[in-house]
Amino acid sequence: MSFINKFQSNELLQQEVGILRQRIAELEAQNQPSAAAAYADFLFENSGESILIIDPYTMKILEANPNAARRLGYRRAELCDLALDQVEMPRSLNDDDAESAWQSSVSGTFFYESAYRHNNGTLIPVEVSSRLVFWQGRDVLINFVRDISWRKETETALRLVNNSLEEQLRQHAADLAAEKEKLEAVLGSIAEGVAMADANKKIVYVNTAFSSLTMYGLAEAQGRSFETMFDFAPRDLQAQTTAFAEGKVWSGEVVGLCQDGRTYPTVLTIVPILDEDGRITGYVTSHQDISRFKALDKAQYSFITNVSHQLRTPLTNIKLYTQLVEDGLSNGKAVHYLHVLSQQADRLEHLVQDILELASLDSTENVLDWRPVDLAEILRQVILSNQRRMQLAQQTLRYSLPEDLPIIKADPARLRQVFSELLDNAFAYTPAGTDITLEAALFEDGTRQWLKVEVQDKGPGIAPEDQAHVFDRFFRGHPAEQGNIVGTGLGLCIAQQITQAHHGHIAMESTPGQGTKFTVWLPVGLE
Ligand code: ADP
Repeated sequence: MSFINKFQSNELLQQEVGILRQRIAELEAQNQPSAAAAYADFLFENSGESILIIDPYTMKILEANPNAARRLGYRRAELCDLALDQVEMPRSLNDDDAESAWQSSVSGTFFYESAYRHNNGTLIPVEVSSRLVFWQGRDVLINFVRDISWRKETETALRLVNNSLEEQLRQHAADLAAEKEKLEAVLGSIAEGVAMADANKKIVYVNTAFSSLTMYGLAEAQGRSFETMFDFAPRDLQAQTTAFAEGKVWSGEVVGLCQDGRTYPTVLTIVPILDEDGRITGYVTSHQDISRFKALDKAQYSFITNVSHQLRTPLTNIKLYTQLVEDGLSNGKAVHYLHVLSQQADRLEHLVQDILELASLDSTENVLDWRPVDLAEILRQVILSNQRRMQLAQQTLRYSLPEDLPIIKADPARLRQVFSELLDNAFAYTPAGTDITLEAALFEDGTRQWLKVEVQDKGPGIAPEDQAHVFDRFFRGHPAEQGNIVGTGLGLCIAQQITQAHHGHIAMESTPGQGTKFTVWLPVGLE
């Protein structure tokens, strides 16, 4: 802006000076020097420009035209007494000056921008055209001085507008970047897979969750139709077309297709994005893998089926034997029937207890009553409480309990439950006259210490096809069902839950015909 203005005004000044010179030259050529001088005087006196005539050797102002005196706030006589540097501010030789200096060497006129000091001290931005001439028998510098305040003001105003616009643009760009970052942070952190597509359903963006669900990275997903990533039934596609035509959202349960060929059940929602005229400009889709919910659903269903199944047998028996008691009061079998009734009631009670136990273990880990526990002491209590039962079954329990086992943090009642369960099973599934062993020891695996407890029997063992299921809820092996051994199929599952709640684990090794060994590991030094 400044560049153009400067040259426009320089041109004007040059034109004016040019006309003046041409006129004077004409007059001189016509041999009318006095007329030329009179004409020059007239211009000097009446020019709209401020003109200063300066001694180039002393740099004193020799003459000033009325306009110069008026613009600088002096009387003419006062101005003529001053040195030029009392009104003209010193200039630094910047790029513009270098350019003007070049012009001067070509045209003999030196153009520069400066500031002139008004008598009242204010500075007036000016443009000066300075030329060395021979005048009235001596060398003089004639300075044509043009006030360029308006131009400077315009430039300043423009610069301000420019700066403010630039600032606004910068702010806008920063806001947009922040918004984008925020959006990406939100989309990146949510568990839902989100994809954005254009009006042709071609994907333009997918979030991290989408990539982990489908195995398609952003670059691979971009440009693909999201319709190829789900297995839509024809009626789904029909329903989508109808919904989108009305600008409505479609949502449904479909199968997601992963890049590596895997599939997963999902609930997909597709939202059409509409412009002001109601035309679809794109789509946003979100979906989640619902395999876990499906599995939970299935687990819940099979749990309820199992519980109902387990309850049905004792209930049927109770009903049957109650009927028999009524009928048998006369034939004297009532005592036997009452005994069976009592057994069935026990079985029911056991079952309900185990189910409640499982439910409380499922609910939260805080059900544990943590305290310092001497495991050897716990095991001694369990052995003692099983003494009578062993004698009756003619079984021998051999045990080894080192004296110096470290104290651990645990729930003593729950631990008693684990080892009672393991001993119960060992007794229940082992024929009379065989040995059962229980051994506790300190064990180090390189990273930490464990208390290891092994319960081993020489019973029939567990069939290979059953081994993977012994910790499953309600699982009862063939011998349990056939041998009429009382149980709910929940004991080992409860033992495993309790061990895991103690940050430990339980394992089983069994060889059919030779026996079974259960091993419990409990971590030492757990805070
Ligand atoms: P329950 O004993 O009530 O049937 P558990 O959860 O304690 O239920 O055990 C699940 C199944 O594991 C048993 O039904 C049985 O088939 C098998 N099992 C457990 N312990 C032993 C063992 N020591 N020897 C042989 N089989 C066992």
